[in-house]
Amino acid sequence: MIIGSHVSFHKDTQLFGSLEEALSYGANTFMFYTGAPQNTKRFPIIDEITLQAYQKMREVGIDLRHLIVHAPYIINLASDDVEKYRYSVSFLREELHRIDQLGIPFMVLHPGNYMKATKQAGILRIQKALNELLMDDSCHVTILLETMAGKGTEIGSSLEEIKQIIDGVTNKKRIGVCLDTCHLHDAGYDLRQFDLFLQQFDALIGMKYVHCIHVNDSKNEMGSHKDRHENIGYGKIGFATLLSIVYHPLLDDVPKILETPYIDRMYPPYRREIAMLLKKKFDSNLLQYTKTDAK
Ligand code: FE
Ligand code: FE
Ligand code: ZN
Repeated sequence: MIIGSHVSFHKDTQLFGSLEEALSYGANTFMFYTGAPQNTKRFPIIDEITLQAYQKMREVGIDLRHLIVHAPYIINLASDDVEKYRYSVSFLREELHRIDQLGIPFMVLHPGNYMKATKQAGILRIQKALNELLMDDSCHVTILLETMAGKGTEIGSSLEEIKQIIDGVTNKKRIGVCLDTCHLHDAGYDLRQFDLFLQQFDALIGMKYVHCIHVNDSKNEMGSHKDRHENIGYGKIGFATLLSIVYHPLLDDVPKILETPYIDRMYPPYRREIAMLLKKKFDSNLLQYTKTDAK
């Protein structure tokens, strides 16, 4: 199984630091923001550190083709505010080059929020922005549209919306999808019938577009549109259903990334959660053990 979690990325240690954090969790892949998730302050990529990380990745058998970067969540390609829209496009253009410089093939992106405009207007703006961004042939990164919970004016909480965006993108080779289990559940998809869900996805969009799975439990009921992640097996999706997703044969080659909450906002749960999924055994002491591990 290709599995890892969200990790940090620091100015001084860059990809090497992220790799070491991932290895401490027993992961064989990872995802990060190139700076803080909530802002767009970024710094130059240092190739020397990147090469050190590649060397270490070869030693431990981690494949660069499985790494993911997440775009900051304040970016909004659907914004009805011209300034914000322009800023989002120009930031992402630079971000794609940073990710390309790191050699990472995928960037996960929240499609956008339509704000005070209509959803259709928002979808059109996303398509326009994506076409502008994907025109640039000097960049190789594929943009993965994340399925959303449908909080507020979020676009992308139904497969139909994701399909509509993709339909309007000219360069289909560099567009894909990231399925977030918490978001799908909160959007109203019944993940207990995961085979059925994938059939539906395949018929509508096509399995070849899926390049990342965000594996999260949810604090809320199906269809709640809340987007509150929960630790694996501790939420309303449950351990059995999450297992059926991470072990689904059609998703064998797709990286699985945990974005579950830190215990007491301090202790990363990922080492224990990855172990749970690999052993297929629920750990009812996750909260307590994670804290003990940290000591
Ligand atoms: Fe996300
Ligand atoms: Fe996610
Ligand atoms: Zn979320």
